[in-house]
Amino acid sequence: MTCDQGAAAASLPGFVRPEVDHDSAPFWASLRDRRLVVQRCTGCRTLRWPFRSVCAVCRVRECTEETMSGDGTLYSWTVIHHATVPTPPALLPYCVALVALAEDPRILIPAQYDGPRGELCSGLPVTAAYHDVTDDLTVLHWRRRGGRGERGLGERAAGERAAGEPAAGAP
Ligand SMILES: [Zn+2]
Repeated sequence: MTCDQGAAAASLPGFVRPEVDHDSAPFWASLRDRRLVVQRCTGCRTLRWPFRSVCAVCRVRECTEETMSGDGTLYSWTVIHHATVPTPPALLPYCVALVALAEDPRILIPAQYDGPRGELCSGLPVTAAYHDVTDDLTVLHWRRRGGRGERGLGERAAGERAAGEPAAGAP
């Protein structure tokens, strides 16, 4: 994936905005909808990611987008202490997780990991999380699946109260 300083990122000093091109536009649009999609070749039925215009297996151009469960397992990870691209200092250090999709573990998708680094281990069950960066950009993150850490920071289930928030109907 290439990066470009987009105009909309101007409100986030130091943030490098992903470049959305013709091929990858459906992927980025799906993240806005809280879905993780990959391409499926209409010629050989192979799932593929990242998005591209031609199937690397059979060279057919036609494909469809298929919504994945968002689940996967941790294949590998790295902790970024010294960023090689412009990064807001407050974000450092951060962890990038390489995750094998549940539907096809040959597909490995890198994204930032939300959670304590101490829980990272090969094969850790993870699930997709969606972070709105701007009004028109949502990025994929990974987080631990099941148990503690199922929801990301600031996310609450329907009806769940934040600490100190009065119960519904309370005076
Ligand atoms: Zn194909």
